[in-house]
Amino acid sequence: MTSIVVLGAGYAGMAATMSLAGRLRGRPGVRITLVDGSDRFTERLRLHQLASGQQLADLRIPAMLAGTGVRFVCGWVTGIDTASKKIRVDDESVLPYDVLVVAFGGAADTGAVPGAAEHAFTLDSAHNASALARRMPGTRSIAVCGSGLTGVEAAAEFAERHPDLRVELIGRTEPAGGMSPKARAYVAGALERLRVSVHSGAEIVKIRPDGVELAGGAGVAADAVLWTGGVRVSPLAAAAGLEVDAHGRVVVDAALRSLSHPSVYAVGDAAAVRQGYGTMHGTCQGGMPTGAHAAASIARELAGAEPKPFRFGYIHMPVSLGRNDADGL
Ligand SMILES: Cc1cc2nc3c(=O)[nH]c(=O)nc-3n(C[C@H](O)[C@H](O)[C@H](O)COP(=O)(O)OP(=O)(O)OC[C@H]3O[C@@H](n4cnc5c(N)ncnc54)[C@H](O)[C@@H]3O)c2cc1C
Repeated sequence: MTSIVVLGAGYAGMAATMSLAGRLRGRPGVRITLVDGSDRFTERLRLHQLASGQQLADLRIPAMLAGTGVRFVCGWVTGIDTASKKIRVDDESVLPYDVLVVAFGGAADTGAVPGAAEHAFTLDSAHNASALARRMPGTRSIAVCGSGLTGVEAAAEFAERHPDLRVELIGRTEPAGGMSPKARAYVAGALERLRVSVHSGAEIVKIRPDGVELAGGAGVAADAVLWTGGVRVSPLAAAAGLEVDAHGRVVVDAALRSLSHPSVYAVGDAAAVRQGYGTMHGTCQGGMPTGAHAAASIARELAGAEPKPFRFGYIHMPVSLGRNDADGL
């Protein structure tokens, strides 16, 4: 029996699992297992909607897997032993694997600035986003830290949903600084229309319970602070001895196999995927194809063929600006 275990049922892990189930359907001697700490599929790219008080669809992973033959294990992975090829779940049970797919995703890097871990909300999970939603009644101002796409989407969502809320968007660059000049101008217009106060060129040095401290001594007072600055990944891959980059992402070859441990694939935000233009940054647009490609590679290897290299490029990068507006690169 060949045991394929996928760790993490987000966009990339779910894409890998579904693709594996389709490709290996009816093949005897293969078992696919998907592991996640929650049995609810987290629509991570909609968590700013949840945080601003909207309801999301209740997507249950066992229902999504119905009819695929995939076994679902609901539990938090606490260790990966690459020598014995075993996964520890919730410190209690052990899952053996022959082929592993690491798809743990990423989380807001609250270690980047003092006070963020203690005082800031994040959009890391439905649990964290719901905590911010519960805080909104009576909240008059929110500081959104980080002016990348997640920060822009969150600031726009809060401003649209809560017209009386003072929304401060704070970051080193202008909002959506990685987009084209035309797209940036559109984003700036939308944020102005939504009356979001933008603080560009600001270096955040500390998060306090009542706001944000900036380099040079200035500050932005706020009843609530949302941290979206940077992403860190689960330490489990590094702890397992897998080769990782400076952000803790698993370094993979062209076929998405770990460079140090070829029986381990890594996909989505958890992987450092090199392309001609550099290392892909984490998006679900890029994460889902990595999951599907890893599945194709695994199926080829099981059939005795060499996996093919992964190729991916963006032709469009969308950013939502509330429920009725959006922009693209
Ligand atoms: C507010 C917001 C808006 C975004 N908007 C966009 C957008 O418009 N377009 C876009 O392309 N991207 C967007 N992104 C980024 C996108 O959501 C991520 O790149 C994507 O979710 C990465 O997919 P993933 O499968 O690698 O990880 P995730 O979707 O984060 O899934 C990881 C899964 O692993 C599980 N897990 C983690 N650790 C463990 C463990 N130890 N044990 C068991 N399970 C574990 C988690 O429970 C989770 O289900 C946005 C992100 C945010 C936060």
